[in-house]
Amino acid sequence: MAHIIDGKQFAANLRGKMTKQIASFKEQHDIVPGLAVVLVGEDPASQVYVRNKGKQATECGINSIEHKLEETTSEAFLLDLIADMNQDPAINGILVQLPLPKHIDADKVLNAIDPAKDVDGFHPINVGLLSTGGKGMIPCTPLGSLMMLQDYHGDLTGMNAVVVGRSNIVGKPMFNLLLQQSCTVTVAHSRTKNIEEVVREADIVVAAVGVPELVKGAWIKPGATVIDVGINRITTDEGKTKLVGDVEFDSAVEVAGAITPVPGGVGPMTIACLLYNTLVAACRHNNVEMPEA
Ligand code: NAD
Repeated sequence: MAHIIDGKQFAANLRGKMTKQIASFKEQHDIVPGLAVVLVGEDPASQVYVRNKGKQATECGINSIEHKLEETTSEAFLLDLIADMNQDPAINGILVQLPLPKHIDADKVLNAIDPAKDVDGFHPINVGLLSTGGKGMIPCTPLGSLMMLQDYHGDLTGMNAVVVGRSNIVGKPMFNLLLQQSCTVTVAHSRTKNIEEVVREADIVVAAVGVPELVKGAWIKPGATVIDVGINRITTDEGKTKLVGDVEFDSAVEVAGAITPVPGGVGPMTIACLLYNTLVAACRHNNVEMPEA
């Protein structure tokens, strides 16, 4: 049976450490890191995410600013708001919750965020900095996944990693992060041939596909570490809804050496890393070192 990597506990520990760091940052520099989250429209899942982000930010001592805008908000209004926040020294991180309503060009909006305040790490400048090994902002979900891998394995040098999925927000940044750690990285995707055999070569499997339970236990090399990024809501035979990952947990847990569950794996790390990025940004904006915990 695989070791279960407890992302909920890991995220709680990280938030606990950051709460101390933020308190000492305030004490030393008289500055409270600020995170602005913008929500446009009424998407129920987005409302839950934004509420959780705000709550956890406040609990860690971050000043959380929420802009809840009408579904009919114009692109020009949103761009003006971002321009104001880019100039505001009290705001260190800006996050625009996706998806945006169809009449707003999401790329235009994300590209308008000051890269130094882009705590989601989606701005092309940050994408470029990640791929060239520069000092940018790293997307939260891949960062949280890497933190758990490093905590479990220590040095990842030379390990064979397979990332399943090539999205801009998870698959590609995960590829770059693992490459930076000197893994040998393969990215598998919907057009990959013999995907099961590709995955079976991996010491580390990161599944970010959006297909419920795609990766089976039989695909996993015995003893491999499995990071399941997927969050899929499915209806069971009994008519109940439940969350499952992109990995078939019950079969994979029998083969893997370690595995993240869904829920309670990567999910909680994503928000914790958003707060981490806000603290990193606040330190950089004020030219100070990351405070000790
Ligand atoms: P996406 O739809 O943007 O990308 C999915 C990728 O999977 C694509 O690159 C595609 O090529 C690949 N793919 C699709 N079908 C495939 C198949 N049958 N075989 C192999 N590859 C296939 O998705 P995303 O935004 O990267 O999200 C992936 C999953 O991660 C989703 O379940 C999403 O809900 C979840 N997610 C979780 C968090 C978190 O906080 N834990 C954050 C972001 C995304």
